[in-house]
Amino acid sequence: MIPSKKQTITLIPGDGVGPEITKATCQIIEAAGAAIEWEVCEAGSVIFKKGLSTGVPKETIDSIQRNRVALKGPLETPVGYGEKSANVTLRKLFETYGNIRPVKEMPGVITPYLGRGIDLVIVRENIEDLYAGIEHSQTPNVAQCLKLISRQGCEKIARLAFEFAKSENRKKVHCATKANIMKLTEGLLKRTFEEVAKDYPDIESHHIIVDNCAHQLVKKPEQFDVIVMTNMNGDILSDLSSALVGGLGFAPSGNIGDHCAIFEAVHGSAPKYAGQNLINPTAMILSAVMMLRHIGQFDAAEKVETAVQKTLAKGILTRDAAGDKPFVSTTDFTQAIIQSLQETVPNTHRHKPLDLSKVYFKDVSVKERDVVGVDIFIETYDHPNDIGACLNALVKDTLWQLKLLSCRGLAVYPNVDISCLKLIDHIRCRFTLSHAFLENVDELILSLLAVVGTKYPWMHVEKLQTFDDIEAFSKAHGG
Ligand code: NAP
Repeated sequence: MIPSKKQTITLIPGDGVGPEITKATCQIIEAAGAAIEWEVCEAGSVIFKKGLSTGVPKETIDSIQRNRVALKGPLETPVGYGEKSANVTLRKLFETYGNIRPVKEMPGVITPYLGRGIDLVIVRENIEDLYAGIEHSQTPNVAQCLKLISRQGCEKIARLAFEFAKSENRKKVHCATKANIMKLTEGLLKRTFEEVAKDYPDIESHHIIVDNCAHQLVKKPEQFDVIVMTNMNGDILSDLSSALVGGLGFAPSGNIGDHCAIFEAVHGSAPKYAGQNLINPTAMILSAVMMLRHIGQFDAAEKVETAVQKTLAKGILTRDAAGDKPFVSTTDFTQAIIQSLQETVPNTHRHKPLDLSKVYFKDVSVKERDVVGVDIFIETYDHPNDIGACLNALVKDTLWQLKLLSCRGLAVYPNVDISCLKLIDHIRCRFTLSHAFLENVDELILSLLAVVGTKYPWMHVEKLQTFDDIEAFSKAHGG
């Protein structure tokens, strides 16, 4: 059923091929009879060139805030005009914590997997993890990037995955993590996912190690339904997955926040094809299909998706998908989809509205927390036995004990044969306290830093804490 009242949606045509693919999409959406009114806004290259360093003007931000839904073309950050990407600005401004990437086999698009029935969705955390971009070069030879994972972020993304599965009547959710190695960060998503899964007894839930998930995606992708992942894993595996069904020309996405959702093709502005009437608009059209479902216009969404499938099944393909066969222009492809719309009888669909009110998180608190030690990272090429002897002498008359030294996470002191190792100038010194302190522990750490600093430059400090008697830090390998 088409609603009687039109919904206003912010439309950002974007850069490069953006205007061509958004024009094609709007023509198809209109021909499908969707009840949409576009509010066209600018962002990206043209705005950077006007001197606005964010690439997103206030009118565009206000429009998205007002309409709460946007369809966005690709945005460029032109060289020499600001360092920030307008895409990242939008993602951060509207805190679109979840990135949804459907991966569905398209009839007529020749891939090694054609006929296998791939129809999966990757739900990727979109604002945390290594993408917080907190990086430091700690020594001239060693750089660090913080992998920040919050319980709140994990709960929201896990709930989003289950709610999305429910909205599409899907039966299975996998959580793919590297929890076997990163027990505290990746493990937090695994543990939270397993808790959240209990609220969805009708949906199968499974954990899978992310490297095996990559292997299984290539080997037997049709086994997956919904897969939820942290940001970096999701970034890599969603691109891998889109290649299974024909590549970037067929990869739509939705960025979901509490207040706004922004739909866009995964690909960029493909500048070499701009203005040539050659680009494949399917990814953008399918992003609009996701958008129509998001706003509850399921019939229009179904009509457009079916028309795209019928067009492709007839062998009407753009250059990227045609291989050696003849191909059609962007505008002819668009007209062929509009033609297919006339033939399309809307099917019954399997979709229900995505209920974002069920995507929440609970704060957790602990009854007791103690500081039981500290890791101090120092810069030195000294032999670990010499460092150990020096640090032991320094802390001899204090409450601190040197527990171990490690290099790149591997214990190198005490009593370790390092003859086969090539050490770098980045050593972790783990000190423990004879018993847990909380009262004056900061003073104790500061005085320890002061004595360590008399011999070795330090660049990073981490408290070793316990929460309700559970260690909140990892052990060193071999330590
Ligand atoms: P890109 O624009 O995605 O293009 C890379 C290649 O992918 C193209 O040369 C083309 O491959 C293929 N491709 C992309 N879109 C296609 C489509 N619709 N149909 C068929 N093939 C398609 O990536 P890029 O060249 O790295 O980035 C260009 C600009 O876009 C950069 O400024 C980048 O920052 C920006 N960007 C924006 C977004 C966004 O707004 N979300 C995302 C990514 C990149 P062939 O050359 O093999 O034909």
